Amino acid sequence: MTFKELNLLEPILNALDTQGYTQPTPIQEQAIPIVLAGKDIMGCAQTGTGKTAAFAIPILQRLENTKPTNGRRQIRALIITPTRELAIQIQESFKDYGQNLRQQSAVIFGGVSQHSQVNRLKAGVDILIATPGRLLDLIQQGFISLKTLEIFVLDEADRMLDMGFIHDVKKSSNHS
Ligand code: AMP
Repeated sequence: MTFKELNLLEPILNALDTQGYTQPTPIQEQAIPIVLAGKDIMGCAQTGTGKTAAFAIPILQRLENTKPTNGRRQIRALIITPTRELAIQIQESFKDYGQNLRQQSAVIFGGVSQHSQVNRLKAGVDILIATPGRLLDLIQQGFISLKTLEIFVLDEADRMLDMGFIHDVKKSSNHS
């Protein structure tokens, strides 16, 4: 199977080519059509199997294919992940695969000043990658609204449960 056979947009195919990816990994082959069809999915794969691209690629394509009716840049996809390192890595993936698209992403995590993160959010974001505590904090301060959310990913959901993040995730979902 090739990426082209997954019916990906030309700008995404070109970005994958730039990354040196020649063919989808098994989880990508299975997950991409399901996400493109707008269905819910739970994926399970080890680190290093291309899990991030399995959700990032079809999310970028779905956002590209439909535009918000009000013409504004607003948070349309949210990825919650347990650690700052993972959050940064995920944003890098979105940037790499979306390098020929106009979707804008931002990453927020705790342990640092919120100032630059808030400024970034104010500038307009389509895709937000966040750790649970800082996400809830910025929602409660009114800097983030999830009312316009279309796509939601819980990355490493099992690890987040182990780390006790479920309460923050649940509280955040009450605001969507
Ligand atoms: P992940 O499992 O998401 O942490 O990805 C592991 C590594 O595989 C990352 O460095 C990706 O850049 C790389 N990768 C993801 N998809 C592919 C692919 N289809 N072909 C080659 N490398 C890939």
